[in-house]
This record gives sequence, structure tokens and C-alpha cells, in this order.
Amino acid sequence: MISETIKQRLATIEQLPSPLNTMLKDLPIEQLGYFSSTQVDDMCQAMTISRAELGLVLLPLASSFAVAPVSNFHVGAVAFDSAGNAYLGANFEFAGNHIGQTIHAEQSAIAHMWQRGATELALLVINYAPCGHCRQFINEVNIADKILRQADDENSHCQQDSVDTVDMAHAQAIHAHDHCHAPYSGNKCGIALEYAIEDTEKEDNTEIVTGRYAENAAYNPSLPALQVALNFRRMQGKDWQNIKRVVMVETTTNFSQVENTRSLLASINQSTNQDIPIEWYKGSANQSYLYNLQTHAIISVKTKHT
Ligand SMILES: [Zn+2]
Repeated sequence: MISETIKQRLATIEQLPSPLNTMLKDLPIEQLGYFSSTQVDDMCQAMTISRAELGLVLLPLASSFAVAPVSNFHVGAVAFDSAGNAYLGANFEFAGNHIGQTIHAEQSAIAHMWQRGATELALLVINYAPCGHCRQFINEVNIADKILRQADDENSHCQQDSVDTVDMAHAQAIHAHDHCHAPYSGNKCGIALEYAIEDTEKEDNTEIVTGRYAENAAYNPSLPALQVALNFRRMQGKDWQNIKRVVMVETTTNFSQVENTRSLLASINQSTNQDIPIEWYKGSANQSYLYNLQTHAIISVKTKHT
């Protein structure tokens, strides 16, 4: 069954100029949120336009990802990294929850880029002038560039060697925690959301999407780990509801993301009326153990440097 969202997205593609619409129609629906530099170059060549112009042409496609039950205002953004790969983003609002949980389109495109491992923002194309909140967020990318790359370099040779009790969701949440951006508060946080996949022939019928905290110097424009994960899920063309399991690793300082996370999870799972407990662990500087803040159980994690 084709969902309403997908129908709308296909209709949006139909409206795009030719031959771009034909090129996009050939791609799987879940691959319309990200284009490699080769795909970007092919599209620019076929349309005889520049990268920036392509960004403008792709904005209606980007805004087709928006979820805006509060404002009904659909915003799109296209971020290009220094290698020329394109990452789409859109605004996301969560009905029934605090308006401050909203993700703006610019934040969405940048967080999407970050989740795919790129750190250098070269160009950002948007269909409305960025608000002050987003200008602050974009500014963080400029000043954070070095910090982010440093963090990645430091950890690139570090491999988690899990003991029995640590499964894939734990390992991925730890990785997200270690690679988050929290230079001001030190409150590092990573999250792993486990979804069931319909392909039952696969031995492991779950898939995991992770999110890592993107802190901002002005605090309010920060993007919590859960929002980063939901944004990435959505930009992969998938629904963010029906989460089966949540693992969160946090180095709590004098605040925590856990209550906001709990509240937002309740809002997005409203239709299924499921209560998703959070497996909430305390991270540590060297990641030699994880401490479950609810059950007080300790899981040891060996960190192997290769
Ligand atoms: Zn904004």
C-alpha cells in the first residue's frame, strides 16, 4: 500500500522540471532525501544548472518531507557538503507536545548531513530566510567544524569490543554518545531507536537508527539526540512511529535529556498507544562501563584500541 506521504512525494516529483523528474522517478522512494556528489553532478549536467540552482529546484522535494501539524507551513532545505553530496531537510513539528521540540528545516538538513558522517557544510539552500534560531545553529557548524572532526579522528581507531550483555543497540548508542557535540555543558548523549522491519526472511528483523546530541553555544537551538535520530529516520523516507526499543547513553551533568525524550516518545507513539520504556545508561569518559540509571545494573564494555 502506498502511503499518503509517498503519493504526495511522487506528485511533487512530477511537478519538477524535466529531465530531473524522470531521473528522480527512477530512484527508490527511500533514496530521495540524499544524493551523492555523482548524482548531483549528473543532475546539474542534465539540467545545465549550477549546484546552488539545483538546490533551489530540489526545495519542493525537500519540503515534501515536512511534518507540520501545528503550523501547516512546509519548509525545505538542501545542504551540500564540501564534496558536493546533497542532504535534504524539512521542518518537523510534534502534535501534542511542547512547541520547543520542533526541528527547523535548516537544522534538519545539517543534522542529516552530520548523521551521514560529513562535517563540512559548503552550501545551504532554503525556501525561507533562516530565523535567528537557525542562524545560531548554522553558526555552530562553522565554529564546531574543527571540534567535530577532531572528535571523529580521535575515535576512528577505537573499536567497541562488546561483552555478552552489550548488544547492537547498546554499541550504537555508545558510539553516538562518544561522537556527539556537547562542548559547552559536557552533557554527552547518544540514542539508538530499534524498529521492526517487515522482511521476516532476514535473521535479524530489526533495524536501528541512532542520534547524537548537537549542542549549540546559545543552548536553545541545540538539537537533542532523539530529534537527530527521528530526523534521520524521516529523511530516509521511513515512518518514525512504531519504535520497539530505545537505548539512551548519557553523561549527565546538572541536566538531562531523558524527560523530554520520554515525553516526545509518548507523543509520537500516541496512535499505537504503546509505552516505550527507555533503557537509560550513564556514559563515562573512558566508556569502560555502562550504568543503568533505572535498574542500577552495571554492564561492562571493553574498549579495544586497534
Ligand atoms: Zn529556523
